Amino acid sequence: MPRPIEAVVHPAALAHNLGVARAHAQGARVWAVVKANAYGHGIERAFEGLRGADGFALLDLAEASALRTLGWRGPVLLLEGCFEPRDLELCSRLNLWHVVHQSEQIDWLAAHKTQQPHRVFLKMNSGMNRLGFATASTRSAYARLAALPQVDEISLMTHFSDADGARGIAHQIALFDSTTADLPGERSLSNSAALLRHGADAGAGAVRNDWVRAGILSYGSAPDYPEHDSLHWGLQPTMTLRTRVIATQMLQPGDTVGYGSAYRAERSMRIGIAACGYADGYPRHAGSGAPVLVAQQHGAPVLVTQQHGAPVLVTQQHGAPVLVDGQRSTTVGRVSMDMLALDLSAPALMSSGIGSEVVLWGRAANGAVLTIDEVARAAATIGYELMCAVAPRVPIHADTAASA
Ligand SMILES: *Cc1c(COP(=O)(O)O)cnc(C)c1O
Repeated sequence: MPRPIEAVVHPAALAHNLGVARAHAQGARVWAVVKANAYGHGIERAFEGLRGADGFALLDLAEASALRTLGWRGPVLLLEGCFEPRDLELCSRLNLWHVVHQSEQIDWLAAHKTQQPHRVFLKMNSGMNRLGFATASTRSAYARLAALPQVDEISLMTHFSDADGARGIAHQIALFDSTTADLPGERSLSNSAALLRHGADAGAGAVRNDWVRAGILSYGSAPDYPEHDSLHWGLQPTMTLRTRVIATQMLQPGDTVGYGSAYRAERSMRIGIAACGYADGYPRHAGSGAPVLVAQQHGAPVLVTQQHGAPVLVTQQHGAPVLVDGQRSTTVGRVSMDMLALDLSAPALMSSGIGSEVVLWGRAANGAVLTIDEVARAAATIGYELMCAVAPRVPIHADTAASA
């Protein structure tokens, strides 16, 4: 029997989430963003769920080819554009649209021999300061592109830095709009957070939004967690990382668990050992939390650390959330390379033991959901990172059942 860990992709949930994107897009066309191997889901599996999109946006030319091989004949956009001049040959051959974010890419186009003129997305830097032409050079870049026989259609785009947060997007929209207002062409501005949080203002506001770029929301993670969770946005988990309990242990008060004795039992408890560790992509720091200062040391400390040379009492680790047989529990102790420990002491887990299902994130057999966002928060990161980091040794396959 293979080691019981697996990642299951839910195509029906991808399709559902794409519908959420569409509902917020107010008639704009929707790019399904499938960069990073579809946020770790695999291009082929993601394509199954997201083929209702109007186009696919990604970075990697090999992934763009894979989409064409899968039979997708609609729009494909390279979000970072070409990396070297000969990439343009593939764009010509496979009819890939590409972002132009700096002037060398215009030089390459000007030198490119093609029968088939290209559609390009001219990217303006409106404050993110990652990719894009500065405000002052956007219009001259547009004029250069417009004069090239290699280009037949120019669209305009920019990217928001704070769509998920307090600063918002209005300042970037104002700059983008004042720079480009009279330039013809379609516009693409919104990522998931902008779409969900500002869909109404971006649609009704100063700037036309012809294409939205739906990434993380398609994969069931709330871009503005914990302010809002995926339930709030009506999103379903698209990936379940699951394994099984392979051993159990009984602990007496004072017994410790795992490397560094980082967890110490305060009472008798039963724990399970699950076949999942950081070599599977599960975050090593999940649930380790920052030790919290409780008091100067009096009596028997739970964990002792040094602060300014003096021993201080700190609280237990919090643990990260997990589902065991569809019931919530937490990890205990440090995550090791291939295993982690779970608390099985709750009365609801009395009959759980060897062979029990352990869901690290996603949907349990009984329908219970543990969002990837909750786990990410327990590891001081974001759902994006966890889903992209599932390790190659974890078998991944599509769920054939309909979504719940
Ligand atoms: C990744 C990316 C997106 C999608 O962002 P999400 O937050 O996942 O929706 C949109 N636009 C660009 C340029 C990106 O690189």
